Formats: sequence, C-alpha cells, structure tokens
Amino acid sequence: MSSKLEVLVIAGDGIGTEVTREAVRVLEIAARSANLTLSLEHEPFGGASIDVHGVPATDALLKRASEVDAVLLGAVGGPKWDSVASDKKPEKGLLALRTAMGVYANLRPAKIFPSLADASPLREDLARQVDYVVVRELIGGLYFGQPRSLTGAPGKQVGINTLTYTEDEIRRIGKRAFELARQRNKKVCSVDKANVLETMVLWRKVMTELGKDYPDVALTHMYVDNCSMQLVLAPGQFDVIVTENLFGDILSDEAGATTGSIGLLPSASLGEKGALYEPIHGSAPDIAGQDKANPLAAILSVAQLFEYTVKRKDVAARIEGAVTSVLESGLRTADIWRGDKGGKTLVGTRAMGDAVVSALG
Ligand code: NAD
Repeated sequence: MSSKLEVLVIAGDGIGTEVTREAVRVLEIAARSANLTLSLEHEPFGGASIDVHGVPATDALLKRASEVDAVLLGAVGGPKWDSVASDKKPEKGLLALRTAMGVYANLRPAKIFPSLADASPLREDLARQVDYVVVRELIGGLYFGQPRSLTGAPGKQVGINTLTYTEDEIRRIGKRAFELARQRNKKVCSVDKANVLETMVLWRKVMTELGKDYPDVALTHMYVDNCSMQLVLAPGQFDVIVTENLFGDILSDEAGATTGSIGLLPSASLGEKGALYEPIHGSAPDIAGQDKANPLAAILSVAQLFEYTVKRKDVAARIEGAVTSVLESGLRTADIWRGDKGGKTLVGTRAMGDAVVSALG
C-alpha cells in the first residue's frame, strides 16, 4: 500500500448521501492518523446519476471504480425512479458496478454491540451470541444467471430467472470463506439448497472438496431454510457462513435485524483487486432528508476499508472502538432507540457522526 489512498465516493440516493457524509469525515481523520494522503473523488451514482447522465452508472465511473484503491458507496434507489425502464433502474447500476469491479466476495459481519443487546429483537442471552460473518457470492447465482426474461401478453406473462454457478465460481468464494475462518474461530457453514436444486448439489460437492485443503477449519453444511431459523434460534453456532447471492442477500438482512438495526451493518465487497465498501441497507426513502438515518453502518464500512484495503487492523479497531464508546455513552438514532432507559439520548445522523468524530479524537 503506497502512502496515497485514492477513494471514489459515490453516495447515491436518499439516506446514502447523509450517511456517506459522516463516513467521509471519519475516513479523513483515519487517513490522517495512518499518515496517508487521501485523494477523494465524488461522483453521482444510481438515481442521482440518472438525473444527470440518464444512466445509473456511466462507463467512465465504472472504469474509474476499477482503478482507485477503494470505492465508498452509500445506497441507491427511491420512488422517484420507480417508473424508469427496468434496465436503467438505480439498482441496475449497483449490479453493473459490482460486475465491472469483479468483486465476487461480499463480507457482511454481524456482531452485537454489548450496549445494544436490549435493542435486538432476540432474547438478550441469544442476542449476545451474535458474532459471525456472512460471505455472500456477489456476481453470480440467481441475480445474474442466463436466460432471464419477462415475456408474454398481459395475463399470460412468464418470468424466468436462472440459478447458475461454475465450479470455479464456487471454489473462489469458498476459498475466501475458509481463509477468513482461519483468522476467526475456524468454522465454516456452507449454506445451500442441495435437497432441491442441482446447482446447489454442485455447490455442496465443491465446498466439501475444498474443505479437505483446510483441515484446520471445521466445515458444516446447512439448508438455507434451516439456516434462516438457526440465525434466530441459536446464533452462537455460527462463525463464517458462505452462501449463494440471493440466499446471502436475505440471510444478511436477517442477521442485520438481530443486531438491533440494519443501520449498524457494514459490508466489504472484494475481488482480486477492486474493493467496494458500503452499508448493507438501502436508501430508506421513508426517512431520507430528515436527519434520522443511522450513519454507523457507513462509518463501520470505513473501518473495513482500513482492515482489507489499507491493511491497518489497528486503525479499523480504533474506528470500531469509537463507535462502541459512543453507543456506551447512550447516544441512539431512532432505529436503535428503545426509550429513555438509563440515560439514553435520541440523536440524528449529524450528531451521531459528530460524536464518533470526537471519540476518534
Ligand atoms: P432499506 O434498507 O432502504 O430500508 C428498510 C427499512 O430500514 C426502512 O424502514 C428504513 O427506514 C430502515 N433503515 C434502513 N437503513 C437505515 C439506517 N441507516 N438508519 C435507520 N433506519 C434505516 O430497504 P427498502 O425500503 O427495501 O429499499 C428502499 C430503496 O433502497 C429501494 O429503492 C431499494 O431498491 C433500495 N436498496 C438499495 C440498496 C443498496 O443501495 N445497496 C440495498 C437495498 C435496497
């Protein structure tokens, strides 16, 4: 890593702009503390890009995203663009970005902050067990498989999507999961639907073969429907979960809810070179522009940037420590506010960002 850090900031739409503004303040402080010269470029993305350029992601943006050290993304979408043609929707920009960057591994850590155990919908003893990472395959599977179409006359329409994976695609995401488990508690749970889907029979076969290269990591298999239950019944059994694109999308939102709010969960999307950091939540049109969004998922995405791109776990830990101390001091955005029990203070996006910045010193 050179002493320069180039980051492309694409805040996107709705609360994406609000939470990214706070994340960038943290990024600037963290880069300074790591003696890095930070170069920031800001570009419209998603609906904001449709408004300016007519497309959710321009070719120039997709090219630049693959050149910089990291991309920091807010969120895209909103009712304003609901009637846009389906191939031009803001969310299509997101899929195009991930594909252009080749970021096939989406790491979504779910960890309970001890001071928020009472904000989880889980019983407190179960909530305290939540500490795992969902490794979601990001540029294959049902979201990308061909053929796909929506055809036919009204009343007789047929929708088609296809779940495809090659052995190579399964192997590369599996490797990421096993490597990650080696740095954690050495357990991988591969989640599939091998009892019904041929693609998932292949998934299980490749994961089983790969597991032999990692004898120090305990590999288990679980059907996705059972996994969705186990995440709330016994979350403590999980360390690293590796799964298909759509399954990972759904399970990681469930994981988010068990930590208290989707507004707390960051994600890192990694390829061979590119790296994309973003909160897992969307643009939340219901609270956009009201200073109500929780910026902590976006801020924790910056911590991931320091862990995986800058390779400074110490800086990542400092950002996480600042978030922990702000939560321990009792500050709560509306999504994690459970009333004024024991001196909690309800704050907005900006005030939460201010508190993290000040905790970082
Ligand atoms: P959402 O994640 O935007 O919102 C779901 C619920 O969680 C809402 O009640 C919202 O207010 C709340 N929420 C989300 N983030 C929050 C935060 N940081 N702080 C406080 N509360 C938060 O999902 P949705 O409502 O299904 O989708 C809204 C739009 O976002 C749609 O256009 C969708 O396509 C898009 N979307 C984008 C992404 C992305 O950019 N990565 C991901 C999911 C959805």
